[in-house]
Amino acid sequence: MPTSPFMSLNGRVVPYDQCNIHAFSGVVKYGAGVFEGLRAYWNAEREELFVFRLHEHLERLRFGMKVLRFDTVFEADFMAKSLLDMIRANNLRENVHLRMIAFLDGDDELSSTGPVGLVCGAVPRPASKAVQDGVHIAIGTYGRLSDNVLPPRVKSTANYVNNRAAELEAKRNGYNGVLMLTGQGKVSEGSGACFFMVRNGALHTPDVASDILESITRDTVIRLARAMGMEVHERTIDRHEVYAADEAFWCGSGYEVQPVLSLDRLAIGSGAPGAITRALQKDYFATVEGRTNEHPDWLTPVWAKG
Ligand code: PMP
Repeated sequence: MPTSPFMSLNGRVVPYDQCNIHAFSGVVKYGAGVFEGLRAYWNAEREELFVFRLHEHLERLRFGMKVLRFDTVFEADFMAKSLLDMIRANNLRENVHLRMIAFLDGDDELSSTGPVGLVCGAVPRPASKAVQDGVHIAIGTYGRLSDNVLPPRVKSTANYVNNRAAELEAKRNGYNGVLMLTGQGKVSEGSGACFFMVRNGALHTPDVASDILESITRDTVIRLARAMGMEVHERTIDRHEVYAADEAFWCGSGYEVQPVLSLDRLAIGSGAPGAITRALQKDYFATVEGRTNEHPDWLTPVWAKG
């Protein structure tokens, strides 16, 4: 059991093995769920655990509940309290990955819209080795789902059948991960991360109409890069343009910022993590760990009194 001993179910802290829903609930039958993956970082010097961009994650979750036409869209305050109560019940003082799912409960037919439940849990997790070492990825045979099929900008459970198939294929073929293309053959995103490349000192990333999740880490990286004086372009990107990039990386709350060293076994740039990627990583970790004073609004302290 990788998950911490206490979870939250519908606003109540419960032991892990009592966090149950019915096997015929709407989320199980129809994939009618929407979820978030967030991280909280322990800052030893400040003796504080900071949840990164909690507000933005909760607003994306609420947007997903609206688009799935759930008859209840939980207030952000209720969801924040559920999450923080769970973290405190586990007495967490280390880096953790946090998971929240708003789900269709009950046992009804396809077009039911409630009742709606909320579950939160935590998994202690240090940074992955890929942050230092980088990853080798491939374009697979599965295209990214498109906006008129399922909404890519909603982090819905059902969407991840697409991501999972693409990731499994890449791993079967010996890669660390997959870069998906849109139905039009343009670069979209990874199975759990948004993609960036560096060309001539500027950052380029697929725009929000490239069937991507509107990633919070992507937004963070764009803001940090612009604050460092870099140009950032959000636009359509061709597969073969990635082969011409000087550097590349992908990012997400779970992935953090991972250098992409090759695509389809063609080295990107020198084939080693690039200087701009390293500079952005440095800034990213200083920000999420609360070692800068630039973005206090992005950090929710778990243990602060009052
Ligand atoms: N794309 C996909 C498909 C993802 O699952 C994720 C992870 N949530 C991301 C991008 C990155 O999003 P975020 O930065 O908001 O975690």
